[in-house]
Amino acid sequence: MEGNPLMARETLDPTDWPGFRDQAHRMLDDMLEYTRHLRERPVWQPIPLALRESFREPLPQRGHDLAQLHDRFMSDILPYAVGNAHPGFMGWVHGGGTPVGMLAEMLAAGLNANLGGRDQIPVEVERQVVRWMRELFGFPESAGGLFVTGTSMANFIALLIARTAFLGVAVRRSGLGGHPLIAYTSAGAHGCIAQAMELAGIGSDALRIIPMDKEFRMNTLLLEQAIIADREAGLTPFFIAATAGTVNVGAIDDLSAVADLAKRQGLWFHVDGAYGALAMLSPQLAPRLAGIQSADSIAFDFHKWGQVPYDAGFILVRDGALQYATFASPAAYLQRETRGLAAGSPWPCDFGPDLSRGFRALKAWFTIQLYGAEKLGESIAGSCDLARYMQKLILGEPKLELLAPVSLNIVCFRYRAQDADRVNNEIVMALHESGIAAPSTTTVNGCLAIRAALVNHRTGEGDIHALLRATLSFGDTITTAV
Ligand SMILES: *Cc1c(COP(=O)(O)O)cnc(C)c1O
Repeated sequence: MEGNPLMARETLDPTDWPGFRDQAHRMLDDMLEYTRHLRERPVWQPIPLALRESFREPLPQRGHDLAQLHDRFMSDILPYAVGNAHPGFMGWVHGGGTPVGMLAEMLAAGLNANLGGRDQIPVEVERQVVRWMRELFGFPESAGGLFVTGTSMANFIALLIARTAFLGVAVRRSGLGGHPLIAYTSAGAHGCIAQAMELAGIGSDALRIIPMDKEFRMNTLLLEQAIIADREAGLTPFFIAATAGTVNVGAIDDLSAVADLAKRQGLWFHVDGAYGALAMLSPQLAPRLAGIQSADSIAFDFHKWGQVPYDAGFILVRDGALQYATFASPAAYLQRETRGLAAGSPWPCDFGPDLSRGFRALKAWFTIQLYGAEKLGESIAGSCDLARYMQKLILGEPKLELLAPVSLNIVCFRYRAQDADRVNNEIVMALHESGIAAPSTTTVNGCLAIRAALVNHRTGEGDIHALLRATLSFGDTITTAV
């Protein structure tokens, strides 16, 4: 080929490697400095109109300079993200990420491995994490596990496997055929459970929403009554989704009671443990999840309390063979061999709907290896200690009112005022715009609540003081302005 200039094809790799390398180091250094000095920045800031407009330019026909693109990232993108890495971020349920997670993500991207299958160590890394999760949750060796985008996808996958368990593999070809499957979850469940019913073609009308008890747990007495009533009506109860850590208040359903009931009634017992399941890493918190070991499937996220950078959801299934039967599809171009690159079957793509898959396992593997289960568990328990500390401060402040008991790491409270819903909504928007702290809002027993979900490992007592001080100050201003 040498000597024939017609054969020289330009690649997309750098032409100036030394220059590229210097630029690469600057980009890495900027992100490390960003993380190191996060606290000095606002949690979030409003996006200037002109800046938003600048992202509506047409498709560029010619390339730009990398250093310029990096400058643009630093000035126009980085300052205007959601801010969940910041210790003052307490909205929704977001993980904070870690610098080591970022590095692992970089290594994974550099390798550009496709984890759909084939004989490669990256797949073994994923299988290693699967084994660790079996161990953590007391699941058998035959259990299947898979990295997915998030718990929404993991819940959906669990529902599909339960459908196979009840209707047989034939359901993959024939569809439901009007079979009256009925599923159950609590009023405190995440909306993605209902969406999973819609996506699975069963329909959200076939999802029974069971009321909660005073501790915001699914009422198991009403659950059993609903199952019996549906069966008497000729329907087929098949799936219970319990929650370990509800989005609203962080309640954990009575998993042992649900496990017993599911067994007695012959239903699939699924746990949506999106953020709460990893509390198993803390010896102090694990007893609160008693019963999770009996689940047929558990969905959870490494990107929430596990602090692995987005995205890293996970599904663990007791009956790995059933998971395989639900998703595996023979195809000529996916032929398996006993030797060579096409060996190592079954492949990850046989256990879920994705064929091409990124190397999400690597950032989870690095995180678990670097910190160890103990330290990750301490970090999780630390957010719960902090939530209890915050509860104590709220109970000691007459102008504030606690709206739900603190079960794990979520604190729902409000500023006492007339027209409290409007005032507290205003307070939260003012908090966001101040850049001091970013809680979110929710509704608890019909009242608008300021909701602080303490998930970020960087959040400390000082951040809680800052949030409460600013809440009182904005509350006073808003109520005296009226
Ligand atoms: C976050 C969350 C989900 C959704 O998980 P994603 O990773 O965002 O898809 C589902 N259930 C609960 C309880 C959650 O906290």
